[in-house]
Amino acid sequence: MNLPIYMDNHSTTRVDPGVVEEMIPYFTVHFGNAASRNHSFGWDADKAVEVGRERLAKIIHADPKEIIFTSGATESNNLALKGVAEMYAEKGDHIITQVTEHRSVLDTAKRLEKSGIRVTYLPVDREGLVDPEEVRKAITDRTILISIMLVNNEIGVIQPVEEIGKIAKERGVLFHCDATQGVGKVKVDVQAMGIDLLSFTAHKLYGPKGIGALYVRRKNPRVRLAPMMDGGGHERGMRSGTLNVPGIVGFGKACEIAMEVMDEEAARLLRLRERLRSGLMGALEEVYLNGHPAKRMPGNLNLSFAYVEGESMLMGLREVALSSGSACTSATLEPSYVLQALGIGIELAHSSVRFGLGRFNTEKEVDYVIGRVIETVNRLREMSPLYEMVKAGVDLKQVKWRKD
Ligand code: PMP
Repeated sequence: MNLPIYMDNHSTTRVDPGVVEEMIPYFTVHFGNAASRNHSFGWDADKAVEVGRERLAKIIHADPKEIIFTSGATESNNLALKGVAEMYAEKGDHIITQVTEHRSVLDTAKRLEKSGIRVTYLPVDREGLVDPEEVRKAITDRTILISIMLVNNEIGVIQPVEEIGKIAKERGVLFHCDATQGVGKVKVDVQAMGIDLLSFTAHKLYGPKGIGALYVRRKNPRVRLAPMMDGGGHERGMRSGTLNVPGIVGFGKACEIAMEVMDEEAARLLRLRERLRSGLMGALEEVYLNGHPAKRMPGNLNLSFAYVEGESMLMGLREVALSSGSACTSATLEPSYVLQALGIGIELAHSSVRFGLGRFNTEKEVDYVIGRVIETVNRLREMSPLYEMVKAGVDLKQVKWRKD
């Protein structure tokens, strides 16, 4: 087993060697511009782009013509929300989303609010799920878009997208889904799920960084978007700019591999996740699972270790790449807005650690992490006066803390 161990696969993934292999000739041999119509370099590049488009379409059950390449899911989310807001301005000015979306949806929605769009941010329940009935109730005659993610990037919960899609169709409202964390991990079907726009990105499914896509429905209904990027009119005029051919080749190959291995990989990751969960929860007291226990993607485990700061834990575990629920880069050490939205309280939000298991993790690594986390939590709790008080039978809720 090699150190350090990478267990932060929601942040990004290692590129699959099969993906790299397929990309390489597109840097040095078939390096043409896919928009060059007059020579074989251009034709070869264009052919490769179309193969990529087909593979992307297949993994989400779409038509290749409905795939628009972007630089990543951040751009796809921006294009979906801003593109709809501008294009459908005459139809309405209201968007519905929810509080645990990725920043690239929430911050885009906030920016649109500045230009007069009204946005409803639906709450989630204690397990991180949005209620489809709340979506239904929020729709008005002015609603032009519903944007709800498939899989949450922190707690891994899977939103009831199919039900929301049905409601959107009934009411004739467009439905955008940020499926960045879901594609290649769980089944995605834009037809069955009633999705009109869908964002995804290669680097979350063992493909390269800097290449993403937006699915844009062409039939029932035909979705139109105002472009964010003006220029040569690439990608049906919705996203100008020379295509990233090697990136597209890699993204396509990553989708192809994911489709082949998805069932087996999901079962394996679920086993590893349950091994990790029971290994930690069986050995340590006061460990809490964040997010719905069953409606979550296989590779995700988000736990709060009471009386232990997530950040301190990661500092004590430098040879394992994990993620904590606190943004230590911010001046205020603000705990994650996703965990706060669950209502678990600020202390437990600060105590959270996200384990992101992926294709290249092994059982040996999981066992090593279990051992090291137990060791670290015990050591930190030994140093915690609060934990000592609790062990001595003090009810912290009854304690009156002096302010002076
Ligand atoms: N949406 C979700 C749910 C994500 O997890 C991420 C990546 N953290 C993004 C969007 C942004 O993707 P990209 O890095 O490709 O811009």
